[in-house]
Amino acid sequence: MTDRSRPSARLMDGTAPARRLTEATAAAAADLRLRTGVTPCLATVLVGEDPASVTYVRMKRARCEQAGIRSRHVPLPAGTGTSRLVDVLGELSADPAVHGILLQHPAGPDVDERAAFEAIAPAKDVDGVTTHSFAAMSFGLPGFASCTPGGIMRLLDEYQVELAGRHAVVVGRSAILGKPAGMLLLGRDATVTYCHSRTADLPSILREADVLLAAVGRPELIRGEDLKPGAVVIDAGYNPGNVGDVHFASARERAALITPVPGGVGPMTIAVLLAQTVEAAERQLGLG
Ligand code: NAP
Repeated sequence: MTDRSRPSARLMDGTAPARRLTEATAAAAADLRLRTGVTPCLATVLVGEDPASVTYVRMKRARCEQAGIRSRHVPLPAGTGTSRLVDVLGELSADPAVHGILLQHPAGPDVDERAAFEAIAPAKDVDGVTTHSFAAMSFGLPGFASCTPGGIMRLLDEYQVELAGRHAVVVGRSAILGKPAGMLLLGRDATVTYCHSRTADLPSILREADVLLAAVGRPELIRGEDLKPGAVVIDAGYNPGNVGDVHFASARERAALITPVPGGVGPMTIAVLLAQTVEAAERQLGLG
């Protein structure tokens, strides 16, 4: 039973802002089609048949269709090597009918994923995975943000979370999530601390966080008692059983704002992917 004497954080719902962003994207895609006759196209590349990856790609393609974006799917057999994958990504990069490219992570044990990502032309890197995109994002230059961090920033803005001068703690430093998210927070004048598996005394750092981003992949690693009262908590973790990296019930009693899992960060990620695909098409057609 909930203890009603304790304050309870406001939920940062991601579904409604994601829907609004997708509606705006669909309108932009329709406008582009009207003006140029071109339908924006996202190529999805999937190596193997990992069930979670198959589901993610299917979901992304279904959302494309809803937003009036064409999707071209390129399934490759498990065991596909780096050079074949690099060739496929190079061909898609050179194909004028393709405006955005998504290589589903993980690409498998036989692939040098970094080399594969780098084969995506920066102009089509709508998932924000290339070194070029990371550098552009870090320097505040035009380019595509990594989708989940980009979605997190939009969510923070949606809830008018002040970032300048506040201490943002990012737990996790992966290339697709923690690291770019920290760069975007830094770009908004937050004071950023990165934590990872070798961080000593994680709870003492968590207690200093005005804004906490959990991007770990460990179910309920972070608990309410670890939080600074009134913190803004973004839980990007998505673990089996729809469980985040934050223990929701205890964190909700201490935080001011908290994302639910599911329905927080997840929907924003796909919405950003679609928005960036249409933006890429606009730029490639000289309209961006
Ligand atoms: P990842 O590549 O496995 O990285 C996990 C990070 O967490 C690493 O930097 C690791 O540190 C750190 N870590 C591991 N155990 C830790 C501990 N006990 N204390 C502190 N740090 C620890 O994972 P990822 O791809 O970034 O994904 C993280 C989570 O986000 C997963 O649950 C994933 O499903 C979810 N995710 C969600 C979305 C979405 O759209 N909602 C998108 C992407 C990912 P080291 O670097 O030292 O190993």
